[in-house]
Amino acid sequence: MKIISAESFILHVPITPPITDAINVATHWGVTGIRIVTDEGITGYGYTGTCANGDEMIAQTIDRYYAPALIGKDPFMVKQIWDELRFGPMHWIGRAGITHMALAAVDIALWDIMSKSVNKPLWQYLGGHKPDKIKAYNTNGGWLNWSKERLISDMSAILEEGFTAVKMKVGLPDSREDFDRVKAVRKAIGDDIGLMIDVNQQWNITTAMTWGKKLEQFDLIWLEEPLNPDDIGNHRKLADELNVPIALGEHVYNKYAFRDYIERGAVEYVQVDVTRVAGVTEWLQVAGLAAAYDLPVCPHVGDMGQIHQHLVAATPNAIMLEYIPWIRHIFEEPATVKDGFYVLPQQPGASTTIIPRYFEEYRVK
Ligand SMILES: [Mg+2]
Repeated sequence: MKIISAESFILHVPITPPITDAINVATHWGVTGIRIVTDEGITGYGYTGTCANGDEMIAQTIDRYYAPALIGKDPFMVKQIWDELRFGPMHWIGRAGITHMALAAVDIALWDIMSKSVNKPLWQYLGGHKPDKIKAYNTNGGWLNWSKERLISDMSAILEEGFTAVKMKVGLPDSREDFDRVKAVRKAIGDDIGLMIDVNQQWNITTAMTWGKKLEQFDLIWLEEPLNPDDIGNHRKLADELNVPIALGEHVYNKYAFRDYIERGAVEYVQVDVTRVAGVTEWLQVAGLAAAYDLPVCPHVGDMGQIHQHLVAATPNAIMLEYIPWIRHIFEEPATVKDGFYVLPQQPGASTTIIPRYFEEYRVK
């Protein structure tokens, strides 16, 4: 099999109503990726996810540097292709961020092609582990711009759908307000529902130590991204001192950075995101590394779950997956949660094939 064409795309899918966390305001989800066509008639789709900022830089990296290098290549040589692109001309300015997100799109499209060509969903092609369903937790009721009333009514609606775990955003300028909101949500959802909180890097070590300790009483599954993601030492301190496990990974871009976090005991839930660590190829290595330390993997869904549902289903130490349903309608086989569990895809591929109508409707030229 040979690749005969490869070209980038940018889609901006509206988010209604717009949401915020402590860093981002999002009106659209950016689905920036690559469509790769082979001489055997199989087309692969891969993409990364953004808050619709910087997509043109990712697309330029794909079109100028990665797509031309793919022509004539065999998609089944994915690891060789990954090495060639990772250590090619973009290495000087790359190794994280834009280049790794562009490489993620390419790598995912290649795994999509491989699993399509053997007529298997990606989770089976990788070797299945959870054949029926995987546990989901819902992030879509806990945004920072929600009033306390809306927070509680959205959380209640989510629980009625069958979810048994929810996440909410914190990181407001006044941490007492965060505390009140978490307290109100815990009271509303009851003691049996799993609750996580996400700081989106807003705290320093002093704030994190003080408020992390105060929030322990709400029996949280984890405390997510409390600090700057480059600050491994202070995350280690929190992991040692707090009775709430530390979760992070959405801003950790490669296996070496994960190794440093894991080796130093600075992360307890590994949230490795396939759209940030340059694709399935590197994601599997990070998951293996976490397994060797007996750490659970719970990916951040920069892909909104389409690809990660396959990865979690194929990975023994991956125990749960985030759910945010903003872009599912654009895919031929949308990621689907029923009674709090992802129902595993059955179509061949990585669930990345986009319905032509939406491919045109949301396309940014
Ligand atoms: Mg997060």
